[in-house]
Amino acid sequence: MSPPSLTPSAVFACACLAWGMAISGAAMGQDEQTPARFDVVAPPPCTNNKGETVRFIDSGRGRPDLATAMAARDGDGNAVVFRSNYAAAPPEFQSFIDRHECAHHQTGDVDRPHPPRNGPEHLMNESISDCIAILRLRDEDGYDRAAFDRVAAAMRSDMAKVGFPEISISSRISNIDNCFTKYGEPQDFINGILEQRGLLQ
Ligand SMILES: [Zn+2]
Repeated sequence: MSPPSLTPSAVFACACLAWGMAISGAAMGQDEQTPARFDVVAPPPCTNNKGETVRFIDSGRGRPDLATAMAARDGDGNAVVFRSNYAAAPPEFQSFIDRHECAHHQTGDVDRPHPPRNGPEHLMNESISDCIAILRLRDEDGYDRAAFDRVAAAMRSDMAKVGFPEISISSRISNIDNCFTKYGEPQDFINGILEQRGLLQ
């Protein structure tokens, strides 16, 4: 099925790898190699901050060589994550993207007004979702340092593919490394965010 049309205000428009930025056409066509294909992983359990179950829906929209996803509510108001072209990314990175998008539901981002694109609040939301994603992989899926490194390598590769500067790539990886190394359990971190936002139930 194809995703229903979405009202912009209802969409937390996060093309995950692109940190919500519109993917520029500038990098298109630079890589003429046949992209690698991977099996698509099963989505993780995901419940939003209101206790609603989040559904994951696959589509082939967008660049075929770039896995992306978007957290949103569909036309009926159901909490969903639209996944695009996951077969283009290694399984560890697919898993990371799923948990990153789930985090936008867990922290209430999807139901809050979308902050200005690429402004500080938006980038903070992306860093928070990245942090939750890597903490879940560490604590729920047993990711060790080697698995972390595979996530970071895929993140680097895909961000470079869409033309991000090195400083953006290294600061994003540094953030998840810091979370992976120093932070406690993901639910505690999520609760802290919800409390700050007055959303803790
Ligand atoms: Zn995001």
